[in-house]
Amino acid sequence: DDSNDRLLTKKKLSLYDNTSYQVSEAKDLKQARQLIEETKHPFDLILVDYYLRQENGLQLMSILQAMDVKVPVLLLCGKLSEIISQQALESDVTECMSKDELTPDYLRRSIQFALHNHQQQTALEKLAHYDILTGLLNRSLFLDRLQHSLETHKREQHQCTLLFLDIDAFKQVNDQYGHTTGDNLLREVADRLTNHCRKADSIARFGGDEFVILLERTDNVTGHYIAQKILIALEAPVVLNGQHINITVSIGVSTFPQTAISHEDLLQQADDALYKAKAEGRARYIHFSEKHRDLWLRRRKLEAELPAALNRGDLNIVLQPIVSVATGNVHACEVLTRWPHGEFTIPALEVIELVGQLRLFD
Ligand code: GH3
Ligand code: MG
Repeated sequence: DDSNDRLLTKKKLSLYDNTSYQVSEAKDLKQARQLIEETKHPFDLILVDYYLRQENGLQLMSILQAMDVKVPVLLLCGKLSEIISQQALESDVTECMSKDELTPDYLRRSIQFALHNHQQQTALEKLAHYDILTGLLNRSLFLDRLQHSLETHKREQHQCTLLFLDIDAFKQVNDQYGHTTGDNLLREVADRLTNHCRKADSIARFGGDEFVILLERTDNVTGHYIAQKILIALEAPVVLNGQHINITVSIGVSTFPQTAISHEDLLQQADDALYKAKAEGRARYIHFSEKHRDLWLRRRKLEAELPAALNRGDLNIVLQPIVSVATGNVHACEVLTRWPHGEFTIPALEVIELVGQLRLFD
């Protein structure tokens, strides 16, 4: 708020370098907020006074948090006390400095340290939340976004749609063209998905060749349309090293709140629908609907019971010999796994499907 202070600080800054930065000034927090909102390129660093006329410089920290702006903040105060230092620490201020001790050199070093630490922190956050190969969100950030998004949709009574996507026969691409081309293809898929979704939607690489997309404020009709659009967008050949590679994908779709209201159920249902799309011939999307629910619930129950059943050795393994009619010799053996479950026995085919869906096959 003090124009003399601002002038003095700018002078100290210019003594060290006046070419590689630009300074914008605000006389109070209202103006500071406006400046941050209006600036196309976010600020690299903010210097704020602790004592402002009616306000306290630390209030800026909650403003930045509400605006989701992450930038290092240096707090300047007349006299640095234990209380101010403690408050600054709790508010996540990068450093607080007494104006009396603020030499140009001290200011220069503090700015350098703050910028360097911020860069390191941003890089670490990126590693923790983003997929290195494609730059998309990773599983943990996506799950976090999904959870928050469902809370907002619940409150505002909006719908949203989840797409669970897996590339068909991707192992063949790796086998035929090599792992590096496989990686480049994953990047191309990520780019096409980004180009065919809106900025507000969240796209993540969930693992291997699996991607998930949260379509915000999207009902199931629009969800169908977007799934179709993505199928078509990914059909166009990918040109890598002069080679045209054709791929298809399968997509499972679930919609909040029609099919599920929790993020776990929504994901499982989209995954279930994806599994069906694969089983029905791939290169298609399937929307999870009421007719899938009974089987899905039964699957969830069996899935929860399977680890304990495996530990107890409940599953019966039956060997079925394959005999040559011509010679009468045993050629090979087929292994069938049946699961006695209460009054019923779960047939081998369902056990295989269950294990496949739980991705327990190597
Ligand atoms: P399906 O149609 O059933 O999906 O068959 P698929 O061949 O695509 O098999 P699946 O989705 O089960 O396996 C995905 C494969 O993706 C397994 C693994 O070899 C490969 N993969 C996983 N992560 C990476 C990666 O980061 N880069 C490359 N190039 N390949 C990967
Ligand atoms: Mg696949």
